[in-house]
Amino acid sequence: MTLEDAHARDEADPLAGFRERFVVRDPELVYLDGNSLGRLPRATLDRLEHVVEREWGERLIRGWWEGWLDLPVRAGDLVGELVGAGPGQVVVADSTTVCLYKLAAAALGRDPGRTEVVVDRSEFPTDRYVLEGLASDLRWLEADPVEGVVPGAVADLLGPETALVVLSHVNYRSAAVAPLEEITGLAHDAGALVLWDLCHSAGVLPVGLDAAGADLAVGCTYKYLNAGPGAPAFLYVRRDLQDELRQPVWGWFGRRDQFLMEQGFEPAPGIAAWLSGTPNVLGLAAVDEGARLAAEATIPAIAAKARALTSYALELHDERLAPLGFTVGSPRDAERRGGHLSVCRHDARALCDALAEAGVITDFRMPDTIRLGCSPLTTSFAELWTGVDRLCRLAPA
Ligand SMILES: *Cc1c(COP(=O)(O)O)cnc(C)c1O
Repeated sequence: MTLEDAHARDEADPLAGFRERFVVRDPELVYLDGNSLGRLPRATLDRLEHVVEREWGERLIRGWWEGWLDLPVRAGDLVGELVGAGPGQVVVADSTTVCLYKLAAAALGRDPGRTEVVVDRSEFPTDRYVLEGLASDLRWLEADPVEGVVPGAVADLLGPETALVVLSHVNYRSAAVAPLEEITGLAHDAGALVLWDLCHSAGVLPVGLDAAGADLAVGCTYKYLNAGPGAPAFLYVRRDLQDELRQPVWGWFGRRDQFLMEQGFEPAPGIAAWLSGTPNVLGLAAVDEGARLAAEATIPAIAAKARALTSYALELHDERLAPLGFTVGSPRDAERRGGHLSVCRHDARALCDALAEAGVITDFRMPDTIRLGCSPLTTSFAELWTGVDRLCRLAPA
């Protein structure tokens, strides 16, 4: 496969034009790490300038009543649309870590007879650590590191004392997609709730939270939603659980009539009850822009391009990397993959460093994995080809 072939794929790509909607200061840089930190949308640059100079600079405290106060819920509805959640069930706040803590604590508080939490051994570290801090009784799932979680293995760990199952929809290492609807159903059959971590699926794959009957979810906005470093995360609480569950961080932004400053906490109606303290307005503005851009491109079109890019990466692997001793660390079935392809070799860490020196940004994951991140709105087929080509040059057999 040649660079000309990659260019032909770019010419046929219906989303190719979106790359121009992002700041690309160095056209020579090959950026295959949008699944860790998405690129900066041009619209976000303008929006942040407006928020800083006009809203903050001129309007000062009045900004809260001129649009800032309800931004967490408004941005939540936009993000909700991207993950298949109807309005009033998603709010943008805090970090993924903190959102996960709030939701897992709420789920554990539901029924004192249920104390067990099921979590995958290969789950993203922050998720494991939060749960280790919260739950006295963790049940570890030993999922296949490449193929990911299978429903039967989850079913084996469920019982009358299971409070919650916590899983990533797309695994951060392998990009394996967990069967969200089936696992949600199994947990419900056992009387448990499920909390989905959507960090690696929000903005790149269809999620269908409402359709699956999902209970709870969290996700970050700085990966495929391109909202920038440390931008606030989002959380989803299914509408009919919002009154039943109680989040643990009671603050004034989650209180009914917060500005009456009354004695005693009473939750605000609806999803606003899941807020705690003063929201990060700059970060929220960036989430709003990132979500609008993804909505404009549409999730089905984004997912189709993610599939095309990762399939192309797989073809490049088979033709050029496999003969050099690489293996694939992601499912070969495109339907079972998220937005990146992992390739593995024992010297992956040194190769990642050498690639960065050569103008190709990827990332290394312990112990032997290089993730080739494919961000459908910004990654081109030519960029991917060039990245793999340089990797081949740097990695003699
Ligand atoms: C990126 C990521 C996180 C990040 O959590 P932060 O609180 O934003 O640091 C959490 N979970 C998963 C699965 C991730 O991929």
